[in-house]
Amino acid sequence: MTKRVLVTGGAGYIGSHAAHALVDRGDEVVIIDRLSTGFDWLVPAAADLVVADIGDTERVASLLQDGGFDAIMHFAGSIVVPESVADPLSYYENNTVKSRGLIECAVRAGVPHFVFSSTAAVYGSVGSEPVAEDTPLRPESPYGSSKLMTEIMLADAARAHDLTYGVLRYFNVAGADPAGRTGQSTKGATHLIKVAVEAAVGKREGIEIFGEDYQTADGTCVRDYIHVTDLVAAHLLALDRLRDGGDSLTANLGYGHGFSVKEVLQTVDDVAGPIRKTMGPRRPGDAASIVADASKARRELNWQPQHDDLTGIVEDALRWERHLQTRNEATTN
Ligand code: UDP
Repeated sequence: MTKRVLVTGGAGYIGSHAAHALVDRGDEVVIIDRLSTGFDWLVPAAADLVVADIGDTERVASLLQDGGFDAIMHFAGSIVVPESVADPLSYYENNTVKSRGLIECAVRAGVPHFVFSSTAAVYGSVGSEPVAEDTPLRPESPYGSSKLMTEIMLADAARAHDLTYGVLRYFNVAGADPAGRTGQSTKGATHLIKVAVEAAVGKREGIEIFGEDYQTADGTCVRDYIHVTDLVAAHLLALDRLRDGGDSLTANLGYGHGFSVKEVLQTVDDVAGPIRKTMGPRRPGDAASIVADASKARRELNWQPQHDDLTGIVEDALRWERHLQTRNEATTN
């Protein structure tokens, strides 16, 4: 069978990295993306881009029918936790309902493999210990619930039909393609490293630290930041496992150790020069510490991360941010 992959959300941050990685190793790639938060210039030249909503099931069905696809990598979705609290039904629509339609199209067209972009938000509040996959699933936001529902649908569909899947639960994804081809370009991003590098290039005045009274070593929250290139590498390994006839799998993706907000911002200062910081109140819903136990991905996928280095993550994110700035200046002049 041809190694031909439909990448949903392939014009977005993580999806575009996956599209590049697949093209790099010789898979055929078709991207479906409605370009609501993604950009066509992040898509590899060798991939076909279909500008459409994955909720357009007629379009998806006709793409998949006789399209020769052996896999779907599903990245399209909404990802802002507070937004999901304010507007839950649009999250269930975008993340759950549309995924249901996509899975049904896959089953009907006989696409045998499905790799799904999930999240550590399916676990909800966790203690300070690394979180393994058998931790009880108690999402605390509509975002986490909307993703968990898709995990459940996939598992049930796989039991009933000729389908195997990889579910990958992301911790804090950051950084950019070391080759400089793509990176986090979403407008109004809220993630720590993205916000910090935006401050470093002067796109923002500074950064607010959301709380320093947590039960952690320096009082700020601890997260497991994983380089997007390592994250994407695990997706390709998961796909290979399925293509080789391996069983479906659900695995965490993180490095198994964390950094505090202050440590991250110190690294940004070291790499880019000091940025302005202000101390603010806690952000509602933030847990003190969230770190992955990602031993399963290493064990089952033979995943060997190459970019477990916070300085390198920040350098790549900063290089991309500077690129975006130059690009912006070029297009606005
Ligand atoms: N954070 C912060 N200032 C910001 C953005 C984030 O202090 O401008 C903190 C946030 O409170 C959390 C950590 O950085 O403790 C990581 O937040 P992010 O939104 O990047 O990821 P999350 O862990 O919420 O998915």
